[in-house]
Amino acid sequence: MQNDLRGLYSRRPRALWFFRFHCIMPERYGTISQLSLENENLSQTDYEVLVIGAGVAGICQIKKLKDMGVTALVLEASSGLGGTWYNNRYPGCRFDSESYTYGFKFSRDLLNEWHWKEMFSPQPENLKYLNFVADKFDLHKHIRLDAPVAQMKWDECARIWTVTLEDGDELTSRFVITCTGALGTPTMPSYEGMNEFEGPSFHSYYWPHEPLDLTGKRVGIIGTGASGIQIIGDIADKVGALTVFQRRPNWSVPLNNRDITKAEMADIRQRYEEIFAVCAESNGGFDHLPDQRVYENVSVEERRALWDALYDAPGFALLLANFRETFLEAEPNRDLSDYVAERIRARVNDPQVAEQLIPRDHGFGMRRMPMETGYFEAYNRDNVRLVSLLDTPIERITRTGLQTSEESFDFDVLVYATGFDVMTGAFDKIDIRGADGQRLKEKWQGSPTTYLGVMVNGFPNMLMVAGPQSVSGSTNYPRAIEVCVDWIGALLEHARTADLSRLEADVDAEATWTQEVIDMQEAMPFSKVKSWFTGFNANVQAANAAPRYIAYWGGAPRYTKILNRVASEGFRDINMD
Ligand code: NAP
Repeated sequence: MQNDLRGLYSRRPRALWFFRFHCIMPERYGTISQLSLENENLSQTDYEVLVIGAGVAGICQIKKLKDMGVTALVLEASSGLGGTWYNNRYPGCRFDSESYTYGFKFSRDLLNEWHWKEMFSPQPENLKYLNFVADKFDLHKHIRLDAPVAQMKWDECARIWTVTLEDGDELTSRFVITCTGALGTPTMPSYEGMNEFEGPSFHSYYWPHEPLDLTGKRVGIIGTGASGIQIIGDIADKVGALTVFQRRPNWSVPLNNRDITKAEMADIRQRYEEIFAVCAESNGGFDHLPDQRVYENVSVEERRALWDALYDAPGFALLLANFRETFLEAEPNRDLSDYVAERIRARVNDPQVAEQLIPRDHGFGMRRMPMETGYFEAYNRDNVRLVSLLDTPIERITRTGLQTSEESFDFDVLVYATGFDVMTGAFDKIDIRGADGQRLKEKWQGSPTTYLGVMVNGFPNMLMVAGPQSVSGSTNYPRAIEVCVDWIGALLEHARTADLSRLEADVDAEATWTQEVIDMQEAMPFSKVKSWFTGFNANVQAANAAPRYIAYWGGAPRYTKILNRVASEGFRDINMD
């Protein structure tokens, strides 16, 4: 490692941003080769790049920076790397992307060595994978755990960020790359009495890391999004009694998970290029492409045959391998919604419960669709009960359970699967102050503004992987991350070669990008549906809040093309000096 870095430095042009230490505080920072050596020592406090977050994005980013020979450190709030896959330990937690499309593609060796055991790999295996990656590429020593960032302050004169941790430690760096993830800031409801419940009670994100034996227990769960639906399907046959408190039902279809045999995995390895090419072509970055036929030219019987096949196919097939019109046009979407409603009715024995599980306020695919395993069948069990909060809202949490407008319930365990402050939540938690002391939280009040979802005017040298208004939130996460990490790598290389130490997105370019994001969202049929797709979380925003624009909905291929064009034109919308 030391030799590698020294070698890289000696081969590279000597750009200003690598040498600022000599210019600013030579006695403190020493020579470049010393810096390289010190990079292995986590007591070092100054870096070329600080990365915030050691989840999927942070791991990919530090690998890239290491390859570039940049002195960098990842600051991770949790006690282990893995982000989402470290923190979410709830039963049933697993990918809903096909596993082999979720792994990193930056290393052929890695693709060859890792065996995905299930089509939709479970959380423990995913965490094992990310640790395997960190072991393989010797990344652990570049990650500081238990290091939550409290503040980031830009120093215009020195052109550095000062990053303060919650424990008061201070670090400095020329660049900060945020890899804080989309869904790492859980939100809780604000019911009266929440502190009074005497049993274990927690958000799904904070499901205890130590085993929690639910055998014979009375469990209450609030929330039926992707997390709640995974938990319910998994624990229904293990608990004594399960009461599900549902506000708005979600459309959900079978995940159709299964094991991947060694022979299948060998075949997948042969086809990785082909698989990733499909992902690159797919708007959502998945191994599913839409049916090319025109909806109205296909008979009702043929549509039905396709939908039957897609309902039984793995993952998001029914959403993404369907006719485009079923997502984009009202009538086809209504037809498909009716079809899925019919499938739900066929799986749930009690017709009244089935009707409560069928969404009325939005069509199929108009909110982020949870994928399920045995979810609807859970309601056929004697020990599972559905309570519709639309009919009988929760009035308060009690010492022994909760009270709705009609009934009181007693539980041993109460789970809040109540969602996340998506995309901007992780940024809001940090006091980020850019040029002139401007606070990012204030700039983003209402809705964020960004340049390509990667940079923010007024916040020089801050780069975001999977940031708000990037395509990450709307696609198969790692596919978009790798594109973004490569782009950031090219930008840093560009700056290094040209001796540039300050990079800031142009204010007009930011406005143009934000408008593109707004236009794309407004063109989407789901734009009037309240969900995190439209930046809404009832635990954070007021019911009548204006829509927020937190993700780019123009699709992964278009987004990648834009990034590539910007890079090929020399990043001209970024002011650099
Ligand atoms: P979510 O989709 O936002 O669902 C939150 C649920 O809690 C909703 O049913 C919501 O009801 C309910 N809720 C929120 N506040 C409530 C309150 N005060 N009272 C009653 N109910 C309340 O959150 P999530 O299930 O954690 O999923 C979030 C996202 O994480 C997903 O959309 C997905 O992108 C990701 N995720 C992915 C996977 C995977 O890849 N396998 C698994 C889990 C999660 P309303 O709809 O009425 O607000």
